Amino acid sequence: MTYSLNSRKVAKATEEWLAKRGVDKREIGELVLFLQKDYYPELTMEECLESVDRVLSKREVQNAILTGIQLDVLAEEGRLLPPLQDMIFNDEGLYGCDEVLSLSIVNVYGSIGYTNFGYIDKSKPGVLKRLNTKNGKDIHTFLDDIVGAIAAAASSRIAHRKQAEKETQEHIDEA
Ligand SMILES: [Mg+2]
Repeated sequence: MTYSLNSRKVAKATEEWLAKRGVDKREIGELVLFLQKDYYPELTMEECLESVDRVLSKREVQNAILTGIQLDVLAEEGRLLPPLQDMIFNDEGLYGCDEVLSLSIVNVYGSIGYTNFGYIDKSKPGVLKRLNTKNGKDIHTFLDDIVGAIAAAASSRIAHRKQAEKETQEHIDEA
């Protein structure tokens, strides 16, 4: 059988895997609100969730999510080959591929996502704190960075849109 890509299946699998790994989209929306509320006090949860959905609709984002979660799951089941198994299982500090993979998500709305990603990775609010709490069973070495990256990208999208709205308004005011 020849390989044919089914985009709908990939999108659906991404949503399902995020849920299966215990991440609620609303929690990602809360991260976006946390990142943007000082800049846009009027920003609503609905706008944040809409932005998260737009990020999640992108193929490169879906690919990164599926890849990262797959590695977390295999590490959890002890099915990776050494030494990678131990590195991912123990979230080894010098293993940085989790962050690098997440950059393909951060990038989708331009480089301003990097600042948000770095900030949220350091402060670990909400769901990120939970994903980072090691219980010796659930492995979220990739997922914590992925979730932070989705929030960072969704925040960048909001920043770009707000700027565009502002410029349109200025244009109207000038006319
Ligand atoms: Mg990580």
